[in-house]
Amino acid sequence: MVKTNNTDVREKVKQLFTEYLTKRKHRKTPERYAILDMIYSIDGHFNIESLYTMMEETAKFRVSRATLYNTLILLLDAHLVVKHQFGTTSQYEKCFNQETHHHMICTQCGKVTEFNNEQLQADIEGAKLPRFRQTHYSLYVYGLCSKCQWKQTMKLNSFKRKSIAEAKSKVVTKSKADAKGKKTIMKKKQEINKNIKK
Ligand SMILES: [Zn+2]
Ligand SMILES: [Zn+2]
Repeated sequence: MVKTNNTDVREKVKQLFTEYLTKRKHRKTPERYAILDMIYSIDGHFNIESLYTMMEETAKFRVSRATLYNTLILLLDAHLVVKHQFGTTSQYEKCFNQETHHHMICTQCGKVTEFNNEQLQADIEGAKLPRFRQTHYSLYVYGLCSKCQWKQTMKLNSFKRKSIAEAKSKVVTKSKADAKGKKTIMKKKQEINKNIKK
């Protein structure tokens, strides 16, 4: 994971969080600020578990999972963090001053990849929605990642190979059976011939 050194953004979100906490009469604890700062140094998505590990290992700040969870709720409410539902898992991401991006989600392995598409963005942001004022949007595209596509092709190929091998072995057994059948007929014919001669 790459760390961003955008001090301006980190200062700005700190200020916004202070305003939010003051307005809502929440306590301004050092834990809450440490969590915010950690989140704004992460590029990409995270969940409670990965954030917990990063707080301990990178920020060297021990916080309980409950504190993490409660702080995330405040940050979501303050519009400083967004929550994504990627299939069955929930992931979070910083959102202040972030470039709009879209997500591709692999339905097989759950891998999430971000992508930009200016045309797509312009189309959605410029879309005229009846009796509705657009503020922001999320776009998730579901499908198969290249690794899972490759795995699927390999599986399909081995299935094909198996079917061909099975079909071939059936042909061999059949021809063996045919040969056996022919031999029996020959024997019978010989016996009949013998009987006639007698
Ligand atoms: Zn995949
Ligand atoms: Zn994202």
